[in-house]
Amino acid sequence: MKIIMLGAPGAGKGTQADLLAKEFRIPHISTGDIFRKNIKEGTELGRRAKEYMDGGQLVPDEVTIAMLLDRIAEADCADGYILDGFPRTIPQAESLKEALDKKGEAIDVCIDIEVPDEDIAARMSGRRSCPKCGATYHIQFNRPKEEGICDSCGAELIQRADDKAETVMKRLETYHELTQPLIDYYSAQNILAAFDGTRKPDEVFRAILEGLK
Ligand code: AMP
Repeated sequence: MKIIMLGAPGAGKGTQADLLAKEFRIPHISTGDIFRKNIKEGTELGRRAKEYMDGGQLVPDEVTIAMLLDRIAEADCADGYILDGFPRTIPQAESLKEALDKKGEAIDVCIDIEVPDEDIAARMSGRRSCPKCGATYHIQFNRPKEEGICDSCGAELIQRADDKAETVMKRLETYHELTQPLIDYYSAQNILAAFDGTRKPDEVFRAILEGLK
């Protein structure tokens, strides 16, 4: 099963992708997490990505596409994967389609998680992330068992620089301009399934599982 998660930043793509990855036993691939890992490790890719990420902008397509196509060529992706944060532009979607077409493969479903802009800002200011394993939490809606500590790996949680209020508005603008057109793109291919993302994470997850059936 090959799944794409669409939705504004903070809509809950990462949380749902994690749950789906466990359910279907396929990898959850987050381009944002791959960039953050490279920044932490001080690689050339990380250095290039950081300047865009810190400004709430997208990393250029050529960098992102090459990185993602390499990742999905790895052995653990043989039975499928969940893409979280990719594609974010029409050229990214077209490059992915081209690469899959060549192998006689296709995306099975594109899950769009819908949350109004007004809710996004409130959600993102409360978001906390694990710098070690990438798990995400929310100080109100999705608390870790122990405050400030990651349930999965025990690391201390942080607020990502790009989740700060000033960057969130820029990220939302970027989303509407460059990423939202993908909704029509996948709808035209009859693989779009939209879900109301304003509900609690487990309710959204149940609706997605029902929808996938
Ligand atoms: P995310 O964790 O998915 O919210 O991504 C954080 C940041 O990483 C984004 O705001 C972008 O700067 C960058 N990024 C992640 N995925 C992509 C992508 N597919 N294309 C371009 N930039 C991306």
